[in-house]
Amino acid sequence: KNDQLDQWDRDNFFHPSTHLAQHARGESPNRIVTGGSGVHIEDRDGNRLLDAFAGLYCVNVGYGRSEIAEAIAAQAKELAYYHAYVGHGTEASITLAKMVVERAPDNMSKVYFGLGGSDANETNIKLVWYYNNILGRPGKKKIISRWRGYHGSGLMTGSLTGLELFHKKFDLPLAQVLHTEAPYYYRRADLTMSEEAFSAHCAAELEALIEREGADTIAAFIGEPLLGTGGIVPPPAGYWEAIQAVLDKHDILLIADEVVTGFGRLGTMFGSTHYGIRPDIITIAKGLTSAYAPLSGSIVSDKVWAVLEKGTDENGPIGHGWTYSAHPIGAAAGVANLKLIDSLNLVSNAGETGAYFNAAMKDAIGGHAHVGDVRGEGMMCAVEFIEGKDERRYFDSARKIGPAVSAALLERGVIGRAMPQGDILGFAPPLCLSRAEADEVVGKTADVVKAVLG
Ligand code: PLP
Repeated sequence: KNDQLDQWDRDNFFHPSTHLAQHARGESPNRIVTGGSGVHIEDRDGNRLLDAFAGLYCVNVGYGRSEIAEAIAAQAKELAYYHAYVGHGTEASITLAKMVVERAPDNMSKVYFGLGGSDANETNIKLVWYYNNILGRPGKKKIISRWRGYHGSGLMTGSLTGLELFHKKFDLPLAQVLHTEAPYYYRRADLTMSEEAFSAHCAAELEALIEREGADTIAAFIGEPLLGTGGIVPPPAGYWEAIQAVLDKHDILLIADEVVTGFGRLGTMFGSTHYGIRPDIITIAKGLTSAYAPLSGSIVSDKVWAVLEKGTDENGPIGHGWTYSAHPIGAAAGVANLKLIDSLNLVSNAGETGAYFNAAMKDAIGGHAHVGDVRGEGMMCAVEFIEGKDERRYFDSARKIGPAVSAALLERGVIGRAMPQGDILGFAPPLCLSRAEADEVVGKTADVVKAVLG
């Protein structure tokens, strides 16, 4: 054990999304992760943990894939960096663009590469604003996202994120951002409402907001096909169809944030195809490289692209770029990762083993008095804990049931995630999870639910 690392960590390392004061006082865990293989990680203290959250739902192919490591090393030796400005590229970045577009919906043929999901969504909002300026609609700029949506933590993307923690004390959201109803059937629907009726309600809320603000002031709607960080919530039946109709009627662009759902997590290459969504822009990150190197992207529809091209004819080069756009090492990781997803059939495994995992979880704990909901799709699953079954009532938040359950699960060697809002335990394992591993996660979760909640 290296105590010096602990000290340096407390003294010098500013951790993201962390209670800083508690961490500095040594009251929060300090896990130094040293290795990983398949669905497992290892830490410096010799623990081997089944990571049923794939890092932050990103290590889709699993840990320790030498094919990707070797592609990264080869790229670094040959050419670690060159920029992508004014027409420059590398074999890796161009090949990856081709591979992404081959997998994207048919009406999309261009991809802009960034570094992470947040910057990709910043790019998307700039593209949407540019688009409306070129079309001579400078007043059509507001963006609508959903409560409980997660789109990043920059100034614009933190505003789009519909979770209070990301706004509080940061003076967010920015004025151009509006939020609408979350498609959270279990929590938000009236007890007597059907899923279809709740979807119609969400669409009506959206339309009312658009009409209140004026459709000529609204540029785009952004949503994750399946709400992720907000609680792992699949959309209720008919939701996307109803939303899409409202957006089409009011000439509002749709950005599908597929940072989590892209590249197989729901058992289809994209969540948009899974739910029949027709987006104008798709955000990708995480599963694009399985997090072996940072890389994100904005896939742009032909309709948007035509206006962007026109804009540059009128105004010169588009003034948007990062030094690390299309970084060759990230691109090399992406190429090797997408090949691996194909050769290991991980998209179909996510669908099949994911369905098995979700069904087994429901079977094992769905009837427990304090389990209100077990829901999911593909390799995403959430368990929502409640005080009493009939009222769908949350536990008193001071009891922190979600964190208590996830901590107990960790003691048994499985990583699940206490989602940031509500008592929700989330799972999003690597797409290579086997049935035996799914059984282990379910069995240990059932033990823990019994131990913590009786
Ligand atoms: N969009 C979604 C749907 C996400 O889940 C995330 C991160 O979890 C982001 C955007 C932001 O990505 P990043 O953390 O890479 O900036």
